[in-house]
Amino acid sequence: MNKTRKFETNAIRIQAQRSQHKEHSVPVFETSSFVFNSAEEARDVFAETVDGNIYTRYSNPNTDEYIKKLCALEGAEDGIATSSGMAAVFLSMISVLQPGDHLLVPRQIFGTTYLLITQVLSRWGISHTFVNINDTDDWEKHILPTTKMIYAETPANPGLELIDLKWLCKLAEKHGLYVVIDNCFATPYLQNPIKYGVDMVIHSATKFIDGQGRTISGAVLGSKETINEVRTLSRIIGPTLSPHSAWLLSKSLETLAVRMDRHCSNAMKLARYLEDNAHVEWVKYPYLSSHPQYKLAKKQMELGGGLVTFELKGGIKRAMKFLNLLRLASLTSNLGDTRTTITHPPTTTHSKLTAKERKESGITDGMIRVSVGLENVDDIIADFDQAIKKS
Ligand SMILES: *Cc1c(COP(=O)(O)O)cnc(C)c1O
Repeated sequence: MNKTRKFETNAIRIQAQRSQHKEHSVPVFETSSFVFNSAEEARDVFAETVDGNIYTRYSNPNTDEYIKKLCALEGAEDGIATSSGMAAVFLSMISVLQPGDHLLVPRQIFGTTYLLITQVLSRWGISHTFVNINDTDDWEKHILPTTKMIYAETPANPGLELIDLKWLCKLAEKHGLYVVIDNCFATPYLQNPIKYGVDMVIHSATKFIDGQGRTISGAVLGSKETINEVRTLSRIIGPTLSPHSAWLLSKSLETLAVRMDRHCSNAMKLARYLEDNAHVEWVKYPYLSSHPQYKLAKKQMELGGGLVTFELKGGIKRAMKFLNLLRLASLTSNLGDTRTTITHPPTTTHSKLTAKERKESGITDGMIRVSVGLENVDDIIADFDQAIKKS
């Protein structure tokens, strides 16, 4: 990596070495294994005394290029590409946590991460406490002698609550805890948690990093030392990203900056439209001055992000009616797509939580989550406007 180069340049110019064909654009290396010139070379590559690819579960030029680029954009020393965001979440946790350890995590978290903590890790003797993301006393109060890790999202899915990364890293340092941040909603373009002292950043690259809804993919990023442990586990367990997906993601990263600029400006305009609409009960967007953590958002994030959550007057009934009346926005649980996507978290992404758990997580029955796409924003707003009026 060239450290003096800026985000967009690294996103475009970091690439795998050219082959003897001198291709300009990097091809897909769809191969499960790699050959050696001699038995001695095989021995040395296996012994890691000589660099080289062995087998795609271990490494591949496409996954290497994707991860090298992502590391440069996040300011990480090293990283591991994963076959999904959830594989990244899981690897980050099990690379540190042992039976008997305790995990501290906010209630405001992606639905499947919630299930991983409550239904999978708990079976292996890893306990947890859910805290209220914005209640600083609540965090400190629940740190136990066995607490080893803090895991959080900022902004959180789906309620867009933020956490002060500077404060969180100080708290972790005081108590000797690992900090893992899921940076999926912000992307490396809007915030780099590692610069605050976070140990690992994880991504669901399925979302804004792919940006076009084509892959399921992820990454774990951190220091060389932290990632070494993740790499060992990943090679043994095998949540490997396919070369084709890595190739797509590396291409996608080339346009992340320009896409995020437009996602954010479109989201800002839609949020303002909703805020001014008399049919809207509430709207949440980090860069709206009405967001409870507006000041923190301005300090911590370069822009407000591509997601907006809101509720219409009339609760769940009106929400369902509104969703069925949309003509442009796609009813789908994915986010970070060029297309505007919309979902009703309580009956979809967070439906496996009990009503009580949803209430505690701040997910109201009428909540609607929009991932604002790259269509012309006037058309997006017109679609919302006709559906709101008819609902
Ligand atoms: C989607 C998502 C995940 C899980 O990623 P997958 O690629 O679907 O496995 C994790 N965290 C957040 C915040 C997400 O939105």
